[in-house]
Amino acid sequence: MVNIKIDLENREKLRRLHTTTHVVNHCARQVLGNHVWQNGSNLKPEFGTLDITHYNNLTMEEIFEIEKLANKTVFENKKVKIDELSRDKAEEKYGFTLYQGGAIPMKTLRVISVEDSDIEACGGIHMESTGGIGLIKIVETSKIQDGVVRLKYVVNEFALDAIYANEVLLKESCDVFSVDKSSIVRTSEKFFNDWKKQNKEIENLKKELGELRIASIETSKDDEFDVADMDMGSAMQIYTKVMSNKPKLVLKANKFVIGPVGYLVEGAKKELNKGKFSVFII
Ligand SMILES: [Zn+2]
Repeated sequence: MVNIKIDLENREKLRRLHTTTHVVNHCARQVLGNHVWQNGSNLKPEFGTLDITHYNNLTMEEIFEIEKLANKTVFENKKVKIDELSRDKAEEKYGFTLYQGGAIPMKTLRVISVEDSDIEACGGIHMESTGGIGLIKIVETSKIQDGVVRLKYVVNEFALDAIYANEVLLKESCDVFSVDKSSIVRTSEKFFNDWKKQNKEIENLKKELGELRIASIETSKDDEFDVADMDMGSAMQIYTKVMSNKPKLVLKANKFVIGPVGYLVEGAKKELNKGKFSVFII
């Protein structure tokens, strides 16, 4: 004896998603063109994916067009018809479009049609009409291989959750800048451009400071200088610029000392030979 328990809640979710797969596939073909075929699909209770034959990942406009058409099919509450036909008859009537969901090794085919707009042989469970699907939302598309694009979609309460998640994201971004959503793009562009400009100014100031430092070292009579405020790269740059005029030059920081070849730093952990001078790590 075998006991079977069916998770009705999950079954209902899959039923909605499965019918959605047929609808989205048909709408993708309407929007993108007749080269679109179903290449695969996968259903989880929370979301579905549909792989279609198409060259490029979809633009935002294309996604929205497919979404609009799919939801129109829902709002029009179209009947989902299920016909049992012999394989020969079915193929004669509908052609090989039938096998988009994969080959079916049966003599009698179960032909699913959404009011004649989408016809496919399919053994899966479906809604009786499209209205029961609820809202359809495409949440992601990606090119998974050459000529195949994957659409990920959610329906019903999961579609509302997805829209809410986007709203939250937008609200949080607006809060960062303390602006409302009508000015978020302009404001973030302004911040980004200012940030780039300031970075450039910082670079220029650093360069000027370096030049002033070089001038003060060159005009001084001393050979040893404290460069504790500089990083090693900047100190080495200064060293290479000044060393021909000051062959005994020594630059000292907390973690390194730069000196001429042959110079000795007691207790240095490491000496890096740079050809004409040495860097001692302390
Ligand atoms: Zn189906």
